[in-house]
Amino acid sequence: MSQKIAILGSTGSIGTQTLDIVSQNPEDLQVVAMSCGSNLDLFETQIRKYKPSLVSVGTEDLAKDLKTRLSDIDIQIQYGMDGLIAVATSADADTVVTAIVGMVGVQPTIAAIKAGKNIALANKETLVTAGHIIMPLAKEKGVSILPVDSEHSAIFQSLNGERQNQISKILLTASGGPFRGRSYEELENVTIEDALKHPNWSMGAKITIDSATMINKGLEVMEAKWLFGVNLNQIEVVVHPQSVLHSAVEFMDGAIIGQMGTPDMRLPILYALFYPNRKTLYAEPLDLFKVGTLTFEKPDLETFYGLSLAYDAMDAGGNVPTVFNAANERAVAKFLHNKIKFLEIPEIVSEAMMNVDFISNPTIEQVLETEQMTYDFIESRWQ
Ligand code: NDP
Ligand code: MG
Repeated sequence: MSQKIAILGSTGSIGTQTLDIVSQNPEDLQVVAMSCGSNLDLFETQIRKYKPSLVSVGTEDLAKDLKTRLSDIDIQIQYGMDGLIAVATSADADTVVTAIVGMVGVQPTIAAIKAGKNIALANKETLVTAGHIIMPLAKEKGVSILPVDSEHSAIFQSLNGERQNQISKILLTASGGPFRGRSYEELENVTIEDALKHPNWSMGAKITIDSATMINKGLEVMEAKWLFGVNLNQIEVVVHPQSVLHSAVEFMDGAIIGQMGTPDMRLPILYALFYPNRKTLYAEPLDLFKVGTLTFEKPDLETFYGLSLAYDAMDAGGNVPTVFNAANERAVAKFLHNKIKFLEIPEIVSEAMMNVDFISNPTIEQVLETEQMTYDFIESRWQ
């Protein structure tokens, strides 16, 4: 029997690669629901190809437009947050792939877990801001949270058959992004185009900028803490520019077990959807002879201090990770709209962390309030 999946964010980088995995496994995977923001041209093509029975788009106007385009087929079309939640809780779905970007993924992910769906989690912002609610809820509901993020998939694979209490540390690898090796001063005038040139991975704009600031790695440290239940001081970021070792775990006897492969997100997507089975991925496998050399270095925490701020945010706890994440989302959007300079991204995150009111154990409502307070603070200082 095929596994039925719902995809939040089917038109994005992870979404389209998830659909590629569906195309490679037509007997085993079926898309029953999916959502997009505003890319109706691609969404329409996807709907005609994968035939979900329920879809959602960003706004009411877009939903009307889509209805006209799809007047020849029988399909339920919704929009906005209600639409995302409908897709996430779609009665037919077994697993929800959270390929949407940003905190907008929090409520649909929680709704999916409450509805008993397994989560193939790409949307790290959800765990960063609401991990303290999501992890216990998933446990209570008996659903699996399967990592799609490549590093977390590598860690998950490395932990197969191992005992959690025998982990010494997690070695979270990072490519270092396009600005690895540069000094703080050298980043003063970098452009959007420079920041969007990731050396190894092709991804959506937001995460590509996050990789350039290394704030992505900060978000991933927090994501790893929630997924694997380790202490912050057990997570070490290792810069590995070749992006071949996708992360590793060191155990108490000194053994390091990691997962290597080409930088292709379809592997972690495939693994999350078929776990604990492995399937053929129709792609070029890693050629170690071509790779030749693997190198490892410590991150430059002075230039890329956004990464240190992530440790501070997680250490402070409460709503501070939400402030960190929301401030970063807003700052990245401003940078992509040419409103601020690259180096203002960590500056805004740092200022927001110092200025937004602390809440020790935020409910979901308070997480969302914190998001709004953070945006209000930023808009009062940076237009
Ligand atoms: P993209 O920007 O490529 O895609 C985002 C998707 O979300 C699109 O389908 C977009 O729709 C949709 N979307 C965005 N905003 C909204 C909104 N307000 N309402 C409804 N839908 C919305 O992102 P990525 O695929 O790169 O990343 C997705 C998530 O996965 C992020 O959390 C990222 O950190 C994580 N991730 C991504 C990796 C990658 O390789 N790309 C690797 C590891 C993690 P539309 O385009 O139609 O507007
Ligand atoms: Mg990653």
